[in-house]
Amino acid sequence: MGNTYVIVAETKGGRLRQVSLEAIHAAALASHEEDKRIALLLGHQLKEAADELARYTEVILIDHPDLASYQAEIYFAALTQALDPIQPYAVIFGHTAIGRDLAPQIAAHLNAGQISDVTAISGSGDAIAYTRPLYAGKAFENRQFSSSPQVITIRPNNIAPAQPASTSSSITELSYTPSTSLRSVIKEVVSKSAGRIDLTEAKVVVSGGRGVKSKAGFQPLEELAEVLQGAVGASRGACDAGYCDYSLQIGQTGKVVTPEIYIACGISGAIQHLAGMSQSRIIIAINKDPEAPIFKVADYGIVGDLFEVVPILAEEFRKLLCAPN
Ligand SMILES: Cc1cc2nc3c(=O)[nH]c(=O)nc-3n(C[C@H](O)[C@H](O)[C@H](O)COP(=O)(O)OP(=O)(O)OC[C@H]3O[C@@H](n4cnc5c(N)ncnc54)[C@H](O)[C@@H]3O)c2cc1C
Repeated sequence: MGNTYVIVAETKGGRLRQVSLEAIHAAALASHEEDKRIALLLGHQLKEAADELARYTEVILIDHPDLASYQAEIYFAALTQALDPIQPYAVIFGHTAIGRDLAPQIAAHLNAGQISDVTAISGSGDAIAYTRPLYAGKAFENRQFSSSPQVITIRPNNIAPAQPASTSSSITELSYTPSTSLRSVIKEVVSKSAGRIDLTEAKVVVSGGRGVKSKAGFQPLEELAEVLQGAVGASRGACDAGYCDYSLQIGQTGKVVTPEIYIACGISGAIQHLAGMSQSRIIIAINKDPEAPIFKVADYGIVGDLFEVVPILAEEFRKLLCAPN
């Protein structure tokens, strides 16, 4: 009998998050053929997400009204009720807000080692190495576990998602016994980003800096992002100036993104901003200062006024992407 790898899957708006499919692939990369891989899905009214998940791997579903919104205390209780009988060899989370919150608690509960923010998995057998960034992405280290259980969080958009199997796996429903001694309860969740593509999972991010000069200055960036089916981000400079909400901030004290294309518009390229985007696959910088540090990390640079360049890009991409075949 092999070891059991548990992937803690996540949903957003009832839909499975891409990072959960990446975590399933991560489990496949880290485990042996004979090992067992189970996705654990917690939430409420998640039948569709569970069915979709079962196309990739065996599923354990805990569906309960108390789990409708994330709350650390309740999720921890539900998760440990499911994990304790399994005695997993490894538990894999996405390096998301929920994963970052829960993984250390679960590691402490299981007395497990933890490797966080994994961007790649290499090696085989007992020599599996987990790559993770250091010093705000300036260096990478390879880490190995020397014992089990193991707790891992993987950074979204870095490990390829798993491919669906030809047949669906089983879904087992587990009951959850609510705790009677909660120290806090969620009354309401107020979402600021309803309907928007999640910044950390977007394939294209169009970001604005202080160079956009005003709230209205973000409009051309919104249009470019829409054409490219991407998300809008920002530097802290733009957030501090009140041009946009802090939920868009990318960087050391903001979100970390690793899209396929990152378009930095009117952003100087301060080290704290680079910490959040320098691992993007292709970086395009638009800045009117040819000496701006952002050009040092950019794959393509356009020296010019963003208010002239961005609408032209949007128009040209629109023609290309909307052209009939
Ligand atoms: C502890 C700490 C944590 C921080 N965390 C973060 C973080 O998480 N994220 C972050 O981003 N920053 C962070 N910062 C702030 C960071 O140091 C910079 O101040 C900030 O990134 C600068 O934002 P900016 O590039 O938009 O603005 P600026 O540095 O003012 O750059 C604006 C750029 O726009 C260009 N520009 C102006 N007009 C135009 C135009 N019309 N067309 C084209 N280009 C134009 C200019 O040439 C300039 O390069 C942090 C700082 C500290 C001290």
